Amino acid sequence: MSLDYPAFGLTPEHEALRESVRALADAKIAPHAAKADQAAEFPWESHDALVRAELQAVHIPEAYGGAGADAIATVIVVEEVARACASSSLIPAVNKLGTVPLLLAASEELKQRYLLPVARGEAMFSYALSEAGAGSDAAAMKARAVRDGDTFILNGTKRWITNAGISEYYTVMAVTDPAAGPAGISAFVVEKGDAGFSFGAPEHKLGIKGWITIAAQALGIAQGALDYAAGYVKERRQFGQALAEFQGVQFMLADMAMKVEAARQLTYAAAARSERAMQGEASADLTFMSSACKCFASDVAMEVTTDAVQLLGGYGYVSDYPVERMMRDAKITQIYEGTNQIQRMPVISGRFRTPC
Ligand SMILES: Cc1cc2nc3c(=O)[nH]c(=O)nc-3n(C[C@H](O)[C@H](O)[C@H](O)COP(=O)(O)OP(=O)(O)OC[C@H]3O[C@@H](n4cnc5c(N)ncnc54)[C@H](O)[C@@H]3O)c2cc1C
Repeated sequence: MSLDYPAFGLTPEHEALRESVRALADAKIAPHAAKADQAAEFPWESHDALVRAELQAVHIPEAYGGAGADAIATVIVVEEVARACASSSLIPAVNKLGTVPLLLAASEELKQRYLLPVARGEAMFSYALSEAGAGSDAAAMKARAVRDGDTFILNGTKRWITNAGISEYYTVMAVTDPAAGPAGISAFVVEKGDAGFSFGAPEHKLGIKGWITIAAQALGIAQGALDYAAGYVKERRQFGQALAEFQGVQFMLADMAMKVEAARQLTYAAAARSERAMQGEASADLTFMSSACKCFASDVAMEVTTDAVQLLGGYGYVSDYPVERMMRDAKITQIYEGTNQIQRMPVISGRFRTPC
């Protein structure tokens, strides 16, 4: 059997996309990452650079003014931006999270109205599911939506919403049929200016202030930490030689690189399945793959960034160097979009389910 197709490989277009996003992230996003982290501010410089390069929401189909990037291309964009700055990678990541419910289920009128401004970079979309008392158990939410003639009245308070106050639009989950359990939850688009909609004070977060997207973010954070540590150990000398010449250090780097590549392959394989699913092809293991890549890539990011801090020694622990920020950012990828405990539950991962 001859292999005249790139089995388990990316297309030249995907590789070219990676190169251009990496160049943009190195030049326009990385220089502002520490400042955005320290000030806990929204990274406007990154936002503007992403919008100028039309990378803020590449997944939006061409029919709605977007680039129509496939799921792997979208993963590459989030990964490469996260390699430079995890907070900035939330711009394409959360725009995707907020708009996927529209792409999947909204009327043509809603899609035209809300996707075009996001594709043009004039507005962002947040995703509002969690509440103070409803995190992992999202179905325990208290937000209610009650029909009032042609409209709905929403009542409730959401918590932890990424880019809240910055985004113009919000996909808000609320219970429409309390008797139906999780199936009685519906998604609504709420505009920032809607009557009665207000924002609380921002949370003081440890770090950065759909599962595959978070895996891509985790992957980028891990790659950024690996690249930084690999460069550092070549420069830093102890006992009369570069740290990179010690076999113990080489073994650590080799383990880090293996883990990152394993996470990348799993994430891309999941993205390929999700792309096929978006095009209507059934994929029996999409749920397992999405859950597995989110869990695995975020655990890898935590391990690799912790090892990167270790390789920098004391310098790894201070904010003059980026790896401690990357370690804090890696932590959140194990928590949001379904904690890694929840992702491991068989009912979520869709495997090992016993018939009942
Ligand atoms: C920085 C940040 C940004 C966020 N952005 C958004 C956003 O944009 N939109 C949004 O809707 N939400 C967002 N969230 C909320 C996030 O998704 C939740 O924090 C997350 O789902 C966990 O919920 P919780 O914090 O209530 O923890 P809990 O559900 O209280 O969990 C606490 C611990 O118990 C474990 N646990 C819970 N249930 C089980 C179980 N059955 N078995 C085993 N272990 C269990 C969890 O894994 C965790 O370790 C964000 C959170 C943060 C911190």
